[in-house]
Amino acid sequence: MTQVPIFNPIASQDKATLEKIALISGQDIYQCMQCGTCSSVCPMVETMGMTTRQGIHLLQFGKTAAVMDARIGELCASCHSCMVRCPRGIDVAKVYDAVRQLTLRENINLIDLNEIPKETLTDAPQIAFVSSFRKLTS
Ligand code: SF4
Ligand code: SF4
Repeated sequence: MTQVPIFNPIASQDKATLEKIALISGQDIYQCMQCGTCSSVCPMVETMGMTTRQGIHLLQFGKTAAVMDARIGELCASCHSCMVRCPRGIDVAKVYDAVRQLTLRENINLIDLNEIPKETLTDAPQIAFVSSFRKLTS
């Protein structure tokens, strides 16, 4: 019988990114069955460019740039509501934190100190700035 080569549509660069995400997060995104439970409990889903379920789905197909551009990694509040309810035991927050770390490794920042309004600099607690810079800047 002739062996038919299976076409793998995931580009090698995206494969490398997926491997890094798996290594950093320790999670297997291919366990996701797309039930959408994580999206339904996520308090930040309205602010993200896509739902948490969609993010995992895109990653499964190697669409890593789309997930990085949606800024899910930065907008995730690390509340772990998704993790405790995921029927497949996936720690979704860890997956998105890995995406965030890879974005920062490309020197892409979510906030710019120079663009923060003066009133915010005066009024906001310093701990808010410290934690924001730690999470959102490279
Ligand atoms: S809750 Fe788990 S299995 Fe369901 S869509 Fe989210 S990551 Fe996938
Ligand atoms: S850990 Fe992040 S992705 Fe998961 S429910 Fe909380 S905010 Fe949403």
